[in-house]
This record gives sequence, C-alpha cells and structure tokens, in this order.
Amino acid sequence: MGKTKTKGKKIKGKKKNPGRKINNHTIKGNIKRKRLTKIEVFECSKLPKIDLHCHLDGSLRPQSVLELLAKEEHILDYQKELELIKAELVAPKDCNSLNEYLVRFELPIKVMQTIENLERVSFELFEDAAKENIKYLEVRFAPQQHKERGLKTSEIISAVIKGMERAKEQYEINGNYILSCMRHLSSESAMEIVEEGREFIGKGVVAVDLCGGEENGFAEKFIEPMKKAKDYGYHITIHAGETGYGKNVTDAIILLGAERIGHGVFITNDELAYELVKEKGIPLEICPTSNIHTKAVFSYEEHPFYKFYEDGIIVTLNTDNRTVSDLDMTKECCVIRDTFDLTFEEYKRIYISSVDAAFISEEEKEGLKKYI
Ligand SMILES: [Zn+2]
Repeated sequence: MGKTKTKGKKIKGKKKNPGRKINNHTIKGNIKRKRLTKIEVFECSKLPKIDLHCHLDGSLRPQSVLELLAKEEHILDYQKELELIKAELVAPKDCNSLNEYLVRFELPIKVMQTIENLERVSFELFEDAAKENIKYLEVRFAPQQHKERGLKTSEIISAVIKGMERAKEQYEINGNYILSCMRHLSSESAMEIVEEGREFIGKGVVAVDLCGGEENGFAEKFIEPMKKAKDYGYHITIHAGETGYGKNVTDAIILLGAERIGHGVFITNDELAYELVKEKGIPLEICPTSNIHTKAVFSYEEHPFYKFYEDGIIVTLNTDNRTVSDLDMTKECCVIRDTFDLTFEEYKRIYISSVDAAFISEEEKEGLKKYI
C-alpha cells in the first residue's frame, strides 16, 4: 500500500549550491529534488532488504535483556523494569555524541556473557530481520567483549553462529558474521581475534572490522593484524569517517585494505578520500539514523546519502543498531524514501549495490537479486 505525500518539502533544489555546511564541514554540490507521483511511492515493509552493517549488541530485544537479567537478579516489577531497561538501551533523541551513544551498549554486554545467551540473542536478531523481509544480514560483534566470565573466543563465535544457523533453518534469510576488533584495545588484541576466528572463515564468519570511538590516524596501529586477516582470507570492512575524519577513510583503504567502509560520511571534508572511494568503487555502509544520533549529521535532509548516490558513489543502506537507534530496516528505508523522494528504481539499484557489496559468492548474489 502506497503512502501519499501531503507535506511540502523543506529543501528545495538549487541549481548552483555553492556548498552546504554539515557539522562545520562543507559539502559541495546540491540536493536535487524530484516530484513523485502517488504510484511511485513504494511500500517499505514488503521490500526485500539487505543489511550489511548491524551490531549484535546494539540490536537486542529489550524484553530479552530483561529476561536474561531476571535469570540472575531478583526483579519485582517487570513492567517498571522493562521501561527502565528501554531507557538504558535506546539513545535519547538529543543524544550528543558518539561516546554518549556508546554507553547504550553496557547493559547488553552484561547479559551477553554465556554461550546460551549469545546463541539466543543471535537467533532473535536474525528472526527479527527475517520478519521484516531482510534477505541477507551481516552482523558484527566484538568477541573481546564477551569474556567477562571466561568464555574462549572460539566458544563465543560458535555460539552466535549457532543462533544464526537456527534462524536460517526456520526463516528465509541468509547471513554471516563479521568479527569486530575494538580500536581502543591493542594491536595484539586484534591479532588474537584474527587468529582465533580463522577456523570460522567461510563457516559463518566472512570478515573483520575495526570499531569503537574514532580517533584521527587510528589505522596505523592495526596494519599488521589487518594484513594477516587478508592473508587468511577474511574480507575487510572498517568503521571510518564516522565522526569527522575523512582521512581515516583513505587510511582504511590504503593502509588496511578495506573493501567497504562503515559510514564514511566525512569523506565530504576530504577530497582525496572522496575521490578514492568513488574511483575504487568502495561501497559505503551508510546508517543515516545512527549518524544523526551521533551528531555526525544534524538531520536527514542534510545527510549526504542521496548526494553520494547521485554522484556515483556506491551506497548501501543499513541499521547499525536496531535497539539503540530504535529502528529497523523498514523504518530506515521509509525515512530515506520520504526524505529524498526515492523512487522504486532507485531503491532497486541500492538493493543491487548492497548485494554486490555483500561478502558472499557470486552464486549467492544471483540468488538475492532474484528477490527484486
Ligand atoms: Zn557501526
């Protein structure tokens, strides 16, 4: 069922926009508006979808967090506790920074310390995704964060893969895991994940990633583990250009061999990074709502997603954190459709780009393309 547009758009296309300020950085070019007919407005919930950038610990069901906590803590008033838990898990609308956003992960991490719980939350994420017609989902998580009770890296990775496989058996969804290495930890810690995850490559794990707070010039420290990862056959995607450092994107591609970039919105302030991403055809894993929560971008209208798309940069649309940002892929598709008057043909091209950017075989990609 289509949605009729009634409200006029605030942003009108200007033929010659000298530049727009985003977070004190100038974005060149203009935002072109299109007129849609009612027929062109497509229904997001029924669309086949791909999500390549989704964090497990940012996507737990609040109800499950409550139940997992209740296994160990005496909880008197479930309804009251559920409201409190939601308040702890979901970022406020006026969230001020990436660091304030990252606090939302403390409670999920607390309950993700046993094999049973890890298996459960992994299953539930894939189940939730399947129910909104996501056909392929790459979930990332940092095994280092689940060792508080002595689990080994291999046990942690096995548990989430098991949950994913159980969901795959029950639903029409495919997926894989990406192992995230925390940037605030050492290069040795990243190397440990690369080594210990090796046995799972092609068996539920497809890539490694670097995540967490983004400092300028973070890449240098991780050259060795990322080189080793590539040698072992992992794909590489790196969070970069999420909070203000366009040059980090260049570093991620040149120094770390990134095949995709998580976010990358700040290539707008770095010409070299912008050209590199464009010329090499490096897909950007764009997560618009998350970017607004972390104040990387101030509004959907100012998000460079559509400008990138029009300029030939490969963009994919993703959730980042379903619970922390209180969204799912359907909501994210809707907001992008409505902000940029996206047509179905444009959505289709973005879907195909996502399929092509997925870390899977050509045969699997052909299968996913048949859904649209
Ligand atoms: Zn992310």
